[in-house]
Amino acid sequence: MFSPLPYNDYGESMRRRLGGRIQKLAIEASLGCPNRSGERGYGGCTFCRNDAFSPSYCRTTTSITEQIDAAIAFHHARRRKADIYLAYFQSGSNTYADIETLQQLYEEALSHPAINGLIVGTRPDCIDSQKLQLLEDISHRHYLAVEYGIESVYDHTLRHVNRGHDYASAVEAIKATRERDIDVGGHLIIGLPHEGRAEVIESIEHINNLHLNFLKLHQLQIYKATPMADEWQRSPEDFLFHKEWSAEEYCSLVIDILRRLTPTTAIERFVSSAPRHLLLFSPLSGIRPDVIRRLVAETMTARGYKQGDLL
Ligand code: SF4
Repeated sequence: MFSPLPYNDYGESMRRRLGGRIQKLAIEASLGCPNRSGERGYGGCTFCRNDAFSPSYCRTTTSITEQIDAAIAFHHARRRKADIYLAYFQSGSNTYADIETLQQLYEEALSHPAINGLIVGTRPDCIDSQKLQLLEDISHRHYLAVEYGIESVYDHTLRHVNRGHDYASAVEAIKATRERDIDVGGHLIIGLPHEGRAEVIESIEHINNLHLNFLKLHQLQIYKATPMADEWQRSPEDFLFHKEWSAEEYCSLVIDILRRLTPTTAIERFVSSAPRHLLLFSPLSGIRPDVIRRLVAETMTARGYKQGDLL
């Protein structure tokens, strides 16, 4: 018999809202990043390696339309069925351009006959009222969500990883986006330097105050040729994940988070993956995301836990 998941699952909640199974198609818009261009900073966030975020079907030399066609073919080849395709401007900062360029990019994606809506990933300090107006106008015609890289709620961590903005920027951007009735998601990294289990769990209190529609959790992975790779090799003891974790250990942390997360925030991801050849270290090496997902659901159900039951 079907038993409901003990947490608010993003896929299920989108299916209820949009009336079908969704598939996000990652788009590489190549807009760059203000934390690399010098506008906000140089060198980028110390953990970042952009090629780790882009699926193999993204080729920056092809048009948005060609990328969408390639992405659909990629998912078809893997027998992934979807009723609704959303173009996902994922890598980099996808509001980092003048308004005409952004409009042209988003409209090209929306003009593809298979596309039903957009998800726009960006930095909290890379949005303004003009860009929000453009996004709001689109949201009146199509599904649209903005996904902000929050990464940490602690300013000392954001400084440490050269993020180039503080947590207040995330609070402000998310509030301004929600006020326009646009769906808002957030991305949080678990295990940034000097954030232990207690800090990670405490950060969920702050996340709850943002009233996000969805949240993605991402275990810190150490990519080769990044400043964080040097830091990890120099002082591994500063990292929550300085050794590999078992699926059970990681699930126990995720469950502690979920039990404190407001039930209205759908959880999109507990764990992320990346091409192995780019990774110096991953705490969940070889453990597939669906294994973690299943273990979290089974453990919570067996113990009678629910998302937000400790609030
Ligand atoms: S994580 Fe995002 S904001 Fe940071 S350097 Fe990479 S693209 Fe820029």
